[in-house]
This record gives sequence, structure tokens and C-alpha cells, in this order.
Amino acid sequence: MKKILVTGGAGYIGSHVVKALGEQGYEVLVFDNLSTGNEWAVLSGRLVQGDVADRGALDRVLTEFRPDAVIHFAASIVVSESVAEPLKYYRNNTATALNLLEALQAHGVNRFIFSSTAAVYGIPEKIPVNEQSPLLPINPYGTSKMMTELLLRDLALANPLFRYVALRYFNVAGADGGNRIGQAYKNPTHLITRALKTASGTYPALQLFGTDYATPDGTCIRDYIHVDDLASAHVLALESLLAGGESALFNCGYGRGYSVREVVDVAKKITGVDFTVIEEERREGDPPALVADSSLIQSTLGWKPKHDDLEYIVGTAWAWEQKITGK
Ligand code: UDP
Repeated sequence: MKKILVTGGAGYIGSHVVKALGEQGYEVLVFDNLSTGNEWAVLSGRLVQGDVADRGALDRVLTEFRPDAVIHFAASIVVSESVAEPLKYYRNNTATALNLLEALQAHGVNRFIFSSTAAVYGIPEKIPVNEQSPLLPINPYGTSKMMTELLLRDLALANPLFRYVALRYFNVAGADGGNRIGQAYKNPTHLITRALKTASGTYPALQLFGTDYATPDGTCIRDYIHVDDLASAHVLALESLLAGGESALFNCGYGRGYSVREVVDVAKKITGVDFTVIEEERREGDPPALVADSSLIQSTLGWKPKHDDLEYIVGTAWAWEQKITGK
């Protein structure tokens, strides 16, 4: 049984990947400081509470568990916060990854999967965007992730034993089809979550940020991917690395974009609540449109999305939202 160390495995995306790893028979150790993650979200394996910035704690876990591979989720993820607090992002997303990679090199762990982001592309010239597009992030979140991608590239060049897969996530949403885990941030910022929390009455209104973008309805376009499909991409990337596959970078999205207004309409339809939407100024750091060309991961790893359906995505998120608000 292969052993996989998952940093940030108690968080939203990490916990869905841990669930998938457990289903595939991997032995999992989750290493998470529980700053945004939750113990109940770890459905498989063991949880060790610790911080990836703490080299001593990492050394202890690596010595004891001796993982075959590491999947690194632990990070900060809010674009607007990264604009206001850039150093937090360079510390949590870049410096901490460097700390982890140094520890892994010291312990001879040479298989690594990294949570990257479509934000590394900034405002792409061509949509859908493929992996060859230049990396021109427009916010510190994207830059902090790009810098870690560059660390990985250079480490792989210097150490031929080291192999990594960086997955560039588009807009991850939805919840476990079995409604056991889902998003549970204290201050959620993502559109679908905020729309559903408005429908459930947690917020009085949904703010819609920016209606003057050069898009068909003036609002931003994003490629929403269901978290279980993203989880299966991680399992495939892991299988590839464990089988001796090459390092690679892959987009993870469906190749189809929805505007903010379209997402709001689906949220109203699924919930049956005609919640209030207030049009606001643009939010800082938001690119107008991000849609994935995900043909590379499909052809290279055989990834086949199962939930390319915005109503399913919003429906699972709504079931989860109702469960956690007790309605
Ligand atoms: N958005 C919005 N209201 C919200 C949250 C998000 O209008 O309460 C917009 C946001 O400006 C962006 C899109 O929804 O255009 C997706 O934002 P989100 O934060 O979900 O993901 P991001 O693309 O920033 O990772």
C-alpha cells in the first residue's frame, strides 16, 4: 500500500482528495494546522496537526511516516486578501512550499503534487487558455503560486529523481456527492458559496462585483469544476508519478465558462429562492475571463470529468449548505 502525505488535507479540496485516496486504497497521513481545515473532514487515514512552516514538525512526520509521495494543498487562497496582504501569500504559498521541498529533499521524497491555479495566467490572450500560455499573474495569489511552480521546475531540472505534477485549478466548487464533506470556511469569498449562503439567509444580499467587463453580459466568466472531478485528477496524477511518469503541468477545468449572472441564475433555480443581488464595483485582482483548455490532462492522464454540469455542482453545494446551516 503506497503512503501519501497530504498537507492541507483537512481543507475543502484536500479533504475530497483524501476521500478519493482512501477509496483507492492508499494509506494517507494528513498534515494540517487546522487554520481553515476541520478534523471531521478527514474521511480517511490519520490527521497530524502541524504547520508546513515548522521544519521540525515536518521532519518528525517524514521520519515516522516515510511517504511515497506528497500532495501539497496547505495554502492561502483568497485573491482579494492577497492584494491587501501580499506578504502573507508569499509566506504561506511560496516560502512554506520551499520549506516543505527542502524537507522532502532531505528525506529523499521525490514525488510531489502541487495545487496551482489558473491565476498564474493573469489575463490570458486566448480563451480557453492552455498550459503553454505565458505566466503573467495579476495578483499576489497568482504570483505566489507561480513562484512555487518555478521552484518545482528548477528542482526537477537539478535533481532528475524528483518528479512533480502541478495542477492548475480553475474555479473549484460543489461538495461530496454523499454530502459528508464540503466547503466550511469561516469567511467564504467564493461566488457559489456566497450565493447559496444568501439563499439560506446567512447573508442579506449577494454582492455582484463588476458589471462593466468586456464579456457578453458584463460580468466575469469562470470555468467551474466539481471538487470530486478535481480529486480524480489528483489520483491520476499520483498514479502517473508512482508509475515513473514525467513531471507535468495540467489545467483542471471543463473548458466551458459561465458568467457571474449565469451562476446567480442557476443558484436561484436550484434553491428556489429569489435572493437579492446588489451590483457593486469591480473587485480588485479579478481577471475578466478564465476558461481552461483541459485537453492535455485528458489525453495524457486519461482524465474524464463526471460532473461537467453547473446544476449538479450548485446542487451538491446547496445540499451541503443546508446540512451545515441545519435547515
Ligand atoms: N464574485 C461576486 N460576488 C461574490 C463573490 C465572487 O460577484 O460574492 C465574482 C468575482 O468577482 C469573480 C467571480 O465571482 O468575478 C468568481 O469569484 P470567486 O471568488 O468565486 O473565484 P476566483 O475566480 O476569484 O478564484
